[in-house]
Parts: sequence; structure tokens; C-alpha cells
Amino acid sequence: MTSLPLVFDAPKRALPPRHLADLDAAGRRAAVAELGLPAYRADQLARHYFGRLTADVDTMTDLPAAARGELAALLPPLVTPVLEQSCDGGATRKTLWRAHDGTRAESVLMGYPDRATVCVSSQAGCGMACPFCATGQGGLQRNLSTAEIVEQVRQAAAAARDGALGEPARLSNVVFMGMGEPLANYPRVIAAVRRITEAVPDGLGISARGVTVSTVGLVPAIDRLADEGLPVTLAVSLHTPDDELRDTLVPVNNRWKVDEVLAAARRYAQATGRRVSIEYALIRDVNDQPWRADLLGTVLRREIGARLVHVNLIPLNPTPGSRWDASPRRVQDEFVRRVQAAGVACTVRDTRGREIAAACGQLAATGA
Ligand code: SAH
Repeated sequence: MTSLPLVFDAPKRALPPRHLADLDAAGRRAAVAELGLPAYRADQLARHYFGRLTADVDTMTDLPAAARGELAALLPPLVTPVLEQSCDGGATRKTLWRAHDGTRAESVLMGYPDRATVCVSSQAGCGMACPFCATGQGGLQRNLSTAEIVEQVRQAAAAARDGALGEPARLSNVVFMGMGEPLANYPRVIAAVRRITEAVPDGLGISARGVTVSTVGLVPAIDRLADEGLPVTLAVSLHTPDDELRDTLVPVNNRWKVDEVLAAARRYAQATGRRVSIEYALIRDVNDQPWRADLLGTVLRREIGARLVHVNLIPLNPTPGSRWDASPRRVQDEFVRRVQAAGVACTVRDTRGREIAAACGQLAATGA
């Protein structure tokens, strides 16, 4: 037998080739040295990539042509857009993109009067199996690499700058609320957050305060995140304050219960001084009862403290084949009122991207 078939049958789920955005400053210098180039070329390349938001070496005219050819090896095209869709009058843009192995994932860019936000994927698919979430239905394909995550942000920042949302805008916020469970892909997500938040030439220079990492509640990973010294916002997808229902809505609750998740959220808030966001997809006749709103308010006050928590209600986006629906408006209003009456801040998330299946929980990467 020869080893040829191995060469041609590369494993389908392999992580992509090494990319500049996978590397920290020392790693970039080492990679450039491996190419036989002086270390300062690493810095120049990083300034183009993170500062000018370009991966096209032909535009890097301060680099000698020969060096450009060599350095292109550090900028393999990882994330190729295959479909772009807009809605909300051009203020919401979904990108479906393909990775080197055919894996697909999605990101969504949203413009607001005072900010621009990109919602990125951290995994292709998701292993958490929440029954109301489109991504959860398909299972996990693979983790995304650090650079695949950073590339979603870099391309979104370039698109916003170039007027994709109408007026040229600076990308100010990154939310890990696309496909996947970010804390189940921990080291790559943390490295991506560092690349996103460090200043040029080490990163894109987006304020950590503008970055939100959303989790189903992987308790040990929340504690690890609290120790990273990265003041990102933590969002916890609670969806109900009681274990009985949460065991079915967020299956990982069978491993870490509501009180353990909220204790970890409190430790995070105390360690970082950042208010934790509690995500709550409001589902008609499932988790929208007045008593649950009262219980939610009481439990959050007791376990985290009113000052360190904020509830983000998400009207459920029904996913294809689901028997669930959003709550009626008056039920939603009453829910908000009751949580607020407990002294806990509560707002309703705007639901961008509904017409293009780009709203919360709709990302399933089935298109094209
Ligand atoms: N795995 C992470 C990120 C997921 S997406 C997490 O669970 O937090 C971000 C948010 O969208 C989560 O709170 C998720 O529960 C919510 N979501 C998923 N499907 C939804 C749907 N169909 N309608 C409304 N929100 C949904």
C-alpha cells in the first residue's frame, strides 16, 4: 500500500491551515523567521491585517514584492463568503461562508445609530442540543479555529468601514451568539478574543467592553474565563429559573444546575466588575408564566445581586419544525414588569434579521 490515498483523502474535519490570526506576537515573528524573512516583516504584515483590515498582500506596497509572495502563506483564505443577504433596510447583513474543508457557518453584521455589532460563530454546528435552537438540531460539525473566528470579525469590520451598512461605520461590538457554544471551544475562543481586543498590530483594537461571550453555562469554563483578565461581558443562557424545565430547554443543565450556573455568574461579575447578562428566550406557555417571572427576579437578586445582573429577553424565533412560538405581546410586557418589580433590570432584545433567518437561534447554515 502506498500512503497516497492519505494525501488525497485529507480528514474532512481537520482544522484549517495556520493563519496569521492564530498567532500571538512571538508566534508571528517565529512564523516569519521560518519563511526566511526578518522579524520586523511580521509587524508590518500584522499592521496591514489588523490595522488596514486587509488580507490582500498585493496592496501591502511597503513590502518588497518577493516578501509579499512569501508572506501570503500566512494569510490563506479561510473564510470564503458564499451567500450574503440583507434586511431591515440594509442595517442587517447575514454572511454564509465556507471553510477550507467545506464546513459552513454564518455571521451577522448589524448597524445601529450608535454602534455596529457582528454576531460570530465559534463552532460549525453545536453540541448543546437546546431544542428551540436551529443550530442545536444539527449537532456539532467541528470547532472553528482562532483565525476562522477572527476572520469573521475582520471581514465584518472591513465591510462596515466600506459602507456595507449604509454610512461607513466602525465595528464596535462582537457577540459570540452565532453558531456554537464558545466555552466548549475554549482555547481558540480566548485567543480570538485577545486578537479582537488587543491594539494594532497585535489585534483589531475593539474594546473588550464591546465583546460578549454567551454560554449555556459551562461552570468550570466560566470560572476560567473570570481568571483571564479579559473584561468581556458574560451572557448566560438561562431561559428559566427552575431546574425541572431547564433540564429540557438547556440539556447541559443535567450536568450543572441553575444554582451552580448562577453562582459562577456571580463569581464572574465580582471578579471582573462587569454586569452579567441573563439571556431568556420567551416561549409561549413554556417559560413565560407570571410566577416564573417572579421566581426569576427573586433568584437573580438572591444569587447574583440586582446591581450585577441584567435580563435580556429574546422573543422566541420559531425554528422550522418546532412546535414552539413566541409569547403574546401582553404576556411579554407582564413578564418584563414582574422582573423589574423584583429590582432586576430587564429589557427586550430587538429581533434583527428575521426575514433572512439571521435572528437569534435561526442560524443553521443550510443555505446554498
Ligand atoms: N451557545 C451559546 C450561544 C448561542 S446563541 C449560548 O447558548 O448562549 C445566543 C442566544 O440565542 C442564546 O441565548 C440562545 O439560547 C438563544 N437562542 C437560540 N435559539 C433561539 C431561538 N430560536 N429564539 C430565540 N433565542 C434563541
